[in-house]
Amino acid sequence: MAGELKLQTPSRRLVLISNRLPISLSRANGKWQITSSSGGLVTAMGPVLRNRGGMWIGWPGTVDSPGMGRLMDAQQEKFGFSLAPVMLTQEEQENFYFGFSNKIIWPLFHGLQSLCDYNPAYWTAYEVVNLKFAHSILENSSSDDYIWIHDYHLMSSAKYLRGLGMKSPIGFFLHIPFPPPDIFHKLPWRTQILEGLLEFDLLGFQTSRHKRNFMHAVRTMLPELRPVGKGQISRIPLGGREVRVGHFPIGIDYKSFSINAASPEVEHQVIGLHDAFPGCTKILGVDRLDYTKGLPYKLDGFRNALQNYPELRRKVTLIQVVVPSREDIPEYHALKAEIERLVGQINGQFADPGWLPIHYTFRSLKRDELLAYYRACEVALVTPLEDGMNLVAKEYCACSEPDGGVLILSEFAGAAAQLRGSAIIVNPYDLEGVAAAINEACMMDASSRSSRMRKLQRVIKDQDIFWWVDSFLQAGISSELEDYPMLLQARQGQVDDSWWWESV
Ligand code: UDP
Repeated sequence: MAGELKLQTPSRRLVLISNRLPISLSRANGKWQITSSSGGLVTAMGPVLRNRGGMWIGWPGTVDSPGMGRLMDAQQEKFGFSLAPVMLTQEEQENFYFGFSNKIIWPLFHGLQSLCDYNPAYWTAYEVVNLKFAHSILENSSSDDYIWIHDYHLMSSAKYLRGLGMKSPIGFFLHIPFPPPDIFHKLPWRTQILEGLLEFDLLGFQTSRHKRNFMHAVRTMLPELRPVGKGQISRIPLGGREVRVGHFPIGIDYKSFSINAASPEVEHQVIGLHDAFPGCTKILGVDRLDYTKGLPYKLDGFRNALQNYPELRRKVTLIQVVVPSREDIPEYHALKAEIERLVGQINGQFADPGWLPIHYTFRSLKRDELLAYYRACEVALVTPLEDGMNLVAKEYCACSEPDGGVLILSEFAGAAAQLRGSAIIVNPYDLEGVAAAINEACMMDASSRSSRMRKLQRVIKDQDIFWWVDSFLQAGISSELEDYPMLLQARQGQVDDSWWWESV
């Protein structure tokens, strides 16, 4: 069915803009080192740009610029699409990226306002860098291109593009949550951010909950505006133009994950993992080191499971992979120390000769290794405190054995809107609830496991990354909203997260 929609997307060249290019450059002893960046957006957009052709504009991860052009040319061939670097100074990087983006917007939009540092210098740098991006977009695009800007680092960029005379349609997708008005109102620059967002032509959110939060902010802060429409896409008339606002849950390259997970190289590692934990149900956690992922709560929930359900002892192992991230920020060091303290404490409390409750790894995994973990583990424990989508949950299902793993998923992950029917849904703060979910997953009979997993796989396969891009572009490019097909979820009732909204 995803194929049906693919055919309907007009084939304009796509110019994609995000804070980071899909590569990171660094220089050691006069030599460049190039690594692929990690994170959900890169995993998601790589196959899309390769399939459609286009350009990616972003920061290459270094303030050094000599020889940049040659390096980009070499990488372009490898990637199969063009790369245009936006160069930032060290100070801009500090104040725009580590400052405004990651010490204000990231915690605030995830509902953790006590972690925000509202330094005014951060805001100034955010605006300067958004203007810099606007100049680069104008230089590198033509009026036939579709401009698609991604994520919270670049919420002011359309405002500057309009100021520079850009007339092309500009779409924006927010990968992280948009918070409810009482949290958004804490932001000292809330008016500028909201007005900047309204300069885009299409605003995309991950779930209807995030979209509704945004519409609430518009209604409370700009009561003179009269939004129209309650379905997947609403419209905000603004003088001679309108802004479309929709929700588009991001997907994964399902086919590639499921095929590669069944490859002989991965299968070999899967056998190794089964042999390494004989007789144990393997529960997998894969999370970036980030306070939004709720790792201390997850570990406490696992501890509760061992306490409340003693029959699980010696029968389950939590394989927790923590992927290093933002290590330059002190809060992340403290979080790592806290996680390691808890792992040590729980292992100290329950370990027996021949059995360690938690197998903890702090590093990035190679792709095959990650797929082998996904495939070998009978349960996945995905419990973020708040998450735009959570791709790990979807990748786990795509890689799962045909007879089925069990997904335990936080109700605050965007993915819960699509997967709640067949995942075990938990409140990550509810330690007893998480413990009960772990017990339920470990005890689930084979036929329930496989029927639930088949349903999860069907949703994730139908609403894959290509479906997501088509859905967004159709909403951005169609001249009449009536042209916009009410997508798969409307027919299948799969993406209706009004349940969440109505339950709070
Ligand atoms: N991932 C990775 N390296 C690893 C483990 C995971 O690049 O060692 C990828 C994983 O495949 C997934 C992404 O990181 O695509 C994590 O995305 P998610 O939406 O779950 O969380 P985010 O880290 O973007 O907040």
